[in-house]
Amino acid sequence: MARENGIRAEIVAVGSELLGADRLDTDSLYLTGELNRRGIAVRRKHVVGDRRADLAETLREALGRADLLIVTGGLGPTEDDLTREAAAEALGVGLERSAALVERLRAYFARRGAAMPERNTKQADVLAGAESLANGWGTAPGQWLERDGRALVLLPGPPRELRPLFAEQVAPRLESWLRRRLGREPEPIVMVRLGIADMGESAVDEIAAPIYSAFDGIETTILAARPGEIELHLRAPASEEPRLHALRERLQAALGLAVYTSQGLALEAVVGEQLRRAGQTLAVAESCTGGLLGARLTAAAGASCFFQGGVISYSNDAKQALLGVAPETLARHGAVSGAAAGEMAQGARRALATDWALAITGIAGPGGGSEAKPVGTVFIGLAGGAKVEVVERRLVGERERIRQWSTTIALDRLRRALAGAAAA
Ligand code: AMP
Ligand code: MG
Repeated sequence: MARENGIRAEIVAVGSELLGADRLDTDSLYLTGELNRRGIAVRRKHVVGDRRADLAETLREALGRADLLIVTGGLGPTEDDLTREAAAEALGVGLERSAALVERLRAYFARRGAAMPERNTKQADVLAGAESLANGWGTAPGQWLERDGRALVLLPGPPRELRPLFAEQVAPRLESWLRRRLGREPEPIVMVRLGIADMGESAVDEIAAPIYSAFDGIETTILAARPGEIELHLRAPASEEPRLHALRERLQAALGLAVYTSQGLALEAVVGEQLRRAGQTLAVAESCTGGLLGARLTAAAGASCFFQGGVISYSNDAKQALLGVAPETLARHGAVSGAAAGEMAQGARRALATDWALAITGIAGPGGGSEAKPVGTVFIGLAGGAKVEVVERRLVGERERIRQWSTTIALDRLRRALAGAAAA
């Protein structure tokens, strides 16, 4: 978080589905990030079902404590969308139907060639004294209300509506309100993200902590981003920017090649850029990841200039027929072995005539493990130049995590090899 400015925020996520077993409130994560960047601390979060009495009680309590209260969800047209009514009750104010909003809603439906259902008119109800926030991405307008120096914000629940609405309508009002509350310009916050691959969180912290703890006033957070990837976030007020970059440089020097980006790039984008710059090509051979590595490499447009393609060689037959893995290798060492990974990489490189090839073979689980090769055993092969390099890893977690993690290790092996080649 940025240096805190003493403003206390609370967030209420509304929706019975968020109290069930298969939906999680993610809106508050986005909102917390936006508030923290402005120095506002989130002191409490609440999840409340679609029950008016519960909601009114939660809102009343939160309004008694917080400087800023953001409520998400429950602004739809249906019976169970009760946020407007509950907020009016908690504040002790009325709801006023806005004729202009009714017209906007009608126009929204007309553009889609439909008549507006009568029940949608309640979405034009505005808390007395509130400003309506136009929603260009759905039917539910947001609301902004200031009272006694405090602010209440109502926002629609669907993330694809909430995010642009926040950016376009809430952020300017929030910044103006903050300026008035603080009696000064809020200081902008600058942030640097370091992406680190194939290194554990505690190993990163062991190297990083002695460095960042000497930099007072710069907030440092270490978070597990994706399996096998760590992010180090450095945040400071803009006046501290030179020190922030000094810290970044010291961390990069200490962590060395493990840092794959300081510009917020994805690992696959970094590898793609290295290959593009070197004018080299890549092929893949995948067993337990079933195409995930190819999917990551082709996620960004422009991959065609370095990515040739790949083979999903799941069975032993496919490994032999498509990649030329020797039957003796499979018989002696098994399909999950360093020898198989090496031959898969060489086979893919040969078949597609590329500069580099990556191969992955492993046991993603939950079944198939043994004492010698437990679930999570993964071999990564990298063929390039005259060399074949193979690494073995023991990963932990469930199937999807092991599969994702394997692709990260593979990408990182190539990244390190390319960085070494570029430095030589
Ligand atoms: P509502 O605004 O209550 O009509 O919500 C519509 C849909 O938005 C819900 O069915 C959810 O799929 C989604 N949604 C609502 N609240 C949240 C939230 N806090 N986080 C993520 N998704 C949400
Ligand atoms: Mg709802």
